Amino acid sequence: MSDCIFCRIVRGEIPSKKVYEDEHVFAFHDINPIAPVHVLVVPKAHVDSMAHLDEEHEAAMGRLMVAAGRIAREQGCTDGFRTIVNTGRVGLQEVYHLHLHIVGGPNPLPPMLKR
Ligand code: 5GP
Ligand code: ZN
Repeated sequence: MSDCIFCRIVRGEIPSKKVYEDEHVFAFHDINPIAPVHVLVVPKAHVDSMAHLDEEHEAAMGRLMVAAGRIAREQGCTDGFRTIVNTGRVGLQEVYHLHLHIVGGPNPLPPMLKR
């Protein structure tokens, strides 16, 4: 049993505000939102980061991307949104269970990266 925080959220051991679930994917509101819409979409099967993906993850990651677009629209992001996957030390990844951030709201977001 993994004590990874997002594995525990997927299993329901840590409460979350779930927005979507299927056999491959689980999505929930970020606990510390940076925008009016801030949802995390994770594969149910643990994988540390995007740098750890291989062929066995293709079905789940395909499902995750399709689900993310639908979740964004359902959350009201009908005029666009941003998706972010932070990876590793350089990407400032905090939780080492791969997750896609969906970030949006009524107004345009700040520039993605400062020079
Ligand atoms: P990262 O920096 O790894 O890309 O993002 C991790 C995200 O997970 C952060 O935005 C943080 O707010 C969120 N997070 C961390 N712990 C929890 C938690 O227990 N519940 C929820 N819903 N979000 C969490
Ligand atoms: Zn995990």
